[in-house]
Amino acid sequence: MKFLCVDCDRQMTFEERKLPGDGTLAAAFRCPRCGRVVAMLTNPMETQLVASLGVKIGGTTVAAQPLETVRSMVATGKPDAFDDAGEQGEGRGPSWSPEAQERLGRVPGFVRGMVKKIYVEYARDRAIAEITPAVMDAARSELGLEGM
Ligand SMILES: [Zn+2]
Repeated sequence: MKFLCVDCDRQMTFEERKLPGDGTLAAAFRCPRCGRVVAMLTNPMETQLVASLGVKIGGTTVAAQPLETVRSMVATGKPDAFDDAGEQGEGRGPSWSPEAQERLGRVPGFVRGMVKKIYVEYARDRAIAEITPAVMDAARSELGLEGM
């Protein structure tokens, strides 16, 4: 499995990985021609998908898991999963408390937009008007995103 830059029809190269903690993996891929970067944030189960790309995580190999799980996740993946457009065109989003903004600021830059979107969608689904650290904690445990 590879990432392709659709515009260039070029295989993207693995660029960066970070482990925010608890088995969560963030990986970035860059197109060598146009420089476009996509980032992928995975929970521990999805990390197996990255392992299938041959990426070593933190110097250790991820234990093998049935690939059926990964396939079903890929099949249901949204086309805009990596969209960093924020809340534009989606009506009013929840606001962020200063503490929550500070915490978001500690997320690695290349996945911050994705992480923010996850929290915004979580809050919107539950009619939460303001995202606070407590809301972020609840979202992480409910969505299985420990370490983000
Ligand atoms: Zn490209």
